Amino acid sequence: MNIDGLKFSVIGGGIGGLAAALALRQRGAQVTLLEQAAALTEVGAGLQISANGMSVLRAMNVVGETPDGGQLSHGTILRDYRKGRAISRIPPPAAGPTYYYHRADLLDLLHRAALDAGVDIRLGAQVIEVVKHPGEAEVVLDSGERLRSECAIAADGGRSAIRPVLNGPEAPQFTHQIAWRATIPWSHRDETPSASLTMGPGRHVVTYPLRDQRLMNVVAIEERSDWQQEGWRLTGDPDDLRARFADFGGPVRDVLSEVTQTNLWALFLRPVAQNWQNGRLALLGDAAHPTLPFMAQGACLALEDAWILARSFEEQSGVTQALAAYESRRRIRATRVVAAAGANARNFHLRGPMRLAAQMALMAIGPRLSRKYEWIYTYDATA
Ligand SMILES: Cc1cc2nc3c(=O)[nH]c(=O)nc-3n(C[C@H](O)[C@H](O)[C@H](O)COP(=O)(O)OP(=O)(O)OC[C@H]3O[C@@H](n4cnc5c(N)ncnc54)[C@H](O)[C@@H]3O)c2cc1C
Repeated sequence: MNIDGLKFSVIGGGIGGLAAALALRQRGAQVTLLEQAAALTEVGAGLQISANGMSVLRAMNVVGETPDGGQLSHGTILRDYRKGRAISRIPPPAAGPTYYYHRADLLDLLHRAALDAGVDIRLGAQVIEVVKHPGEAEVVLDSGERLRSECAIAADGGRSAIRPVLNGPEAPQFTHQIAWRATIPWSHRDETPSASLTMGPGRHVVTYPLRDQRLMNVVAIEERSDWQQEGWRLTGDPDDLRARFADFGGPVRDVLSEVTQTNLWALFLRPVAQNWQNGRLALLGDAAHPTLPFMAQGACLALEDAWILARSFEEQSGVTQALAAYESRRRIRATRVVAAAGANARNFHLRGPMRLAAQMALMAIGPRLSRKYEWIYTYDATA
């Protein structure tokens, strides 16, 4: 269908919402993006964007062929926690390299592209309800204002308040995993900048460079059952972080010793949504398929969603058909990637003899490991 002038309300100004707004606007739609925060900001530092996410950013002209602002990855080094000994090196996927982005930089690129394309971005606009009418979706803001459009897209994240409109109430469940995140100034230059994944019992640490190796991004994950806080994100104590990873040696110990500020995320999840759309309202990104971060694919999936959503409108004859096509194209893939990330929660945190056996296997097959996940990276939503 021709979506020139068709009105869309996109709820949420994260990576998913901005990408969806841009992809729709680039096809002529009239898009209003509603973000509850007073400014578009991302906390939590780094993001790995693999080839499947990069192809969407390139197709939307958000980045060029050799993207500015992204740090080219030369692969991932797997390490044992005790002395940081390298067990294996996973080369970049055959599908194409991964880039490491500072979240604020990627958000800024998407934000500027959306503004330039003519997306109407409204900040401080919290959506409290979406009502379906014949031929229309009505979005209700906390201010009492009501906006009508032909279609609403809820990209309001893992705690989506709009998802219950389609799926009823479902409280997110604590996964017993906590993520500590930090960035530290970095001065070492590596000819082949890579990520490091250091695995120990019940914990792992991922580090990779950002912004032309001037920053090092740190994500330290630990299994914990004692989370009592209501909030998802808290300011952490760097000494507590070091104490919890005190038995980690080698390069990661040096990195953790430099941390002066850190935040903690309790990782809560809902399952992949049962219902993604009702013919006028659709879920996108974490709102539809929140994932553990252990495949580094949540933002990449949101980018794929955005492109497939816009393309479904191009290819289908009406809004209802387009949203149904979007859901059927995205559900299986998103579910499979979310499951792969969940499996890594176990693989990365093995204990005792299981860990030693897994290390032997990794030594043998490590260089071929990226092939196991090639189905994730070779997927090109824009093809
Ligand atoms: C530790 C960690 C590491 C990660 N690493 C990676 C990685 O390396 N690669 C990768 O691809 N992914 C990674 N992810 C996942 C990625 O961060 C998310 O999947 C992605 O940010 C989801 O984007 P989104 O736009 O769907 O949701 P969000 O980023 O959560 O954005 C939702 C937006 O909606 C707004 N909003 C919420 N409710 C309302 C409302 N009612 N009205 C208006 N606005 C609203 C919010 O303020 C927010 O701006 C990681 C996640 C974690 C926790």
